[in-house]
Amino acid sequence: MCERCQDSARWTLRRRSFLKILGSAGAAGMLGSGLESEAAYADALTKAQRDEMSPSEIIDVMKKGNERFRSGVRQNRNYLNEQKASASGQYPAAVLLSCIDSRAPAEVIMDLGLGDIFNCRVAGNVANPDILGSMEFACKLAGAKVVLVMGHTACGAIKGAIDNAELGNLTGLLDKIKPAVQATNYSGERSAKNYSFVDAVARTNVQMTLDNIRKNSAVLSDLEAKGTIKIVGAMYNLETATLEFLN
Ligand SMILES: [Zn+2]
Repeated sequence: MCERCQDSARWTLRRRSFLKILGSAGAAGMLGSGLESEAAYADALTKAQRDEMSPSEIIDVMKKGNERFRSGVRQNRNYLNEQKASASGQYPAAVLLSCIDSRAPAEVIMDLGLGDIFNCRVAGNVANPDILGSMEFACKLAGAKVVLVMGHTACGAIKGAIDNAELGNLTGLLDKIKPAVQATNYSGERSAKNYSFVDAVARTNVQMTLDNIRKNSAVLSDLEAKGTIKIVGAMYNLETATLEFLN
């Protein structure tokens, strides 16, 4: 059992449970002799495990998962076991809103497994009533404790909004990002060719999306006020693989 596995907070209780099962059996060789069903059960986040974690602990697990990802030491997970263990029910710990960018899949960059998080994806990670409804389902009905809005560097949607790109339905989507372009204080070149500006707008866009969620979802803002959930933002850096959590 590696130290990293032990350090990766309660989310990986399922791992520890799994390893504990092996440990109490005395040897890994016990697998295949009646322990497989228990092992499979331990491969998915259970309701009890999710419910005993605080929102801050869940955020910590996501941070540690990103540390593993960017250091190249990922958990040795078995997706098929996770699929079997989660097929009869899901108890995700968080709901994410992230961009569709192919290089920023949340579960991969935070080293998470099946059933760990709900994931809403839309170019430029902007909220709308359907996204808010999905988040309300995730938190109020399904018990997720963290709402995470994740932007990323060099975002094509942000560049498109800066450039006033127009294309079919994309035009309307980019219109939702444009207020972030206007609201970004930046003294240098305000163009899509300036990645520093693009990333500054992406940060503003995350903050404005968080504001939108709080303003337009009484369900989520009430849960946040009670301390039941945390609503947080983050920026993922495509070049360094670092996920930086914002305040
Ligand atoms: Zn993007």
